Amino acid sequence: MSRSQPHPCPLCQPLADSPQTGPQTGANCPDSAVIERRLYVPTLQNVTLATREAAQTARRGTLKMVQCGSCGFVWNAAFDPALMSYDSGYNNDVSASDFYQAHLCSMADRILASVPPEEEIHYVEIGCGEGDFLRLLHERGQGRVVSAVGFDPSFTTAEQLPDGVVVHPCYFTPAEITKIPPQTNIVCSRHTIEHVSDVQGFAANLAATMAPGRQLFVETPDVDWILRHGAFQDFFYEHCALYTPHSISLLLARHGLQCEVVPVYDGQYMWIEAQIPAAGQPLVQPPPSDPRDLGQTYQSHRSALLDSWAAYLERRKSAGPIAIWGAASKGVTFALIMNARTHQMITAGIDLNAAKQGCYMPVTGLPILAPQEAKDMGVATVVIMNPNYEAEIRNMIADLDWSPEITVLNEARDEQQLKHVS
Ligand SMILES: [Zn+2]
Repeated sequence: MSRSQPHPCPLCQPLADSPQTGPQTGANCPDSAVIERRLYVPTLQNVTLATREAAQTARRGTLKMVQCGSCGFVWNAAFDPALMSYDSGYNNDVSASDFYQAHLCSMADRILASVPPEEEIHYVEIGCGEGDFLRLLHERGQGRVVSAVGFDPSFTTAEQLPDGVVVHPCYFTPAEITKIPPQTNIVCSRHTIEHVSDVQGFAANLAATMAPGRQLFVETPDVDWILRHGAFQDFFYEHCALYTPHSISLLLARHGLQCEVVPVYDGQYMWIEAQIPAAGQPLVQPPPSDPRDLGQTYQSHRSALLDSWAAYLERRKSAGPIAIWGAASKGVTFALIMNARTHQMITAGIDLNAAKQGCYMPVTGLPILAPQEAKDMGVATVVIMNPNYEAEIRNMIADLDWSPEITVLNEARDEQQLKHVS
């Protein structure tokens, strides 16, 4: 582990325009550490690439994930925002999964329950993608969501929006703040903050949307979960800013917001509920944390897991083709790392997103197949990228009357293997 690197934390170092931001500033910031470093990774994992050549020549960048020894925030110190373009070719739709749909419904219901039932809901979503969550909330609100305004540059306006719903196909910048209706009582931003390298700028924009009585909901991965599970496949270029419960609380507090953080999605994500403190109430700073042990644990787990997965793939190769299930961020990253270590043992990705089927995964150029196509190809081993989808994937495979060997990333098997290795 390389420590004592000159990587001032973009989250907890003193703000240039605000020298007194409470006790948790970078003034006493311990050293930061590089916990993951990879060259030539695809800058976008969730793009639909129609030819193998386009996939193999996809744009690449450098991953240099640094963890702050004080607040625990993890960021890509080599991130170049100029390499990113979240335009209409971006597709991270996972709504074909029942488990994910149930998660979305649960989050929508949380939002609906946060407003007294007799009150109207006026909703704003920053980074709304194609507006799927916005539509879901509108539908589940059964008339309570009177207005909804979304912002996202990848929005393509293909389907008609319900009455009272508007989506602006652009990034949310200070210039867009005037587009927030004054009666807004809910602001939400799901799976967006981890894509933004300007940590303070984005938090300032979120804070600027707030007013007394308004609630802010943010959903983002919990990097503590990634570190605890040795989930190397969860570090990729799109996610240039990964938060711990402590660091997201600290960031929002620095922008005047009090928040609560709850684990959701089996602990992989955090659901953050924030507001301006009530009149006369002080902003309570989150207590200090010491994140350094988790970073070190991650590095030893990661090495052991990479070795054990490589050995597993080598063993399974003789049984027939090996496919990963889940050709999104985790799958693109896992295939890239493992194929480099094992001489192309993985031959395909399986995904339920119909827009991705027939396309290719960036950099590896592996084809993305529908489950039936993978069966027809004789796939003998399926590695499931997200343990949350295991039950439904096993059911789908059984329904196809297909019997590959199925293994899952991050399941108890990993723990067993770690015990053997360590
Ligand atoms: Zn920090």
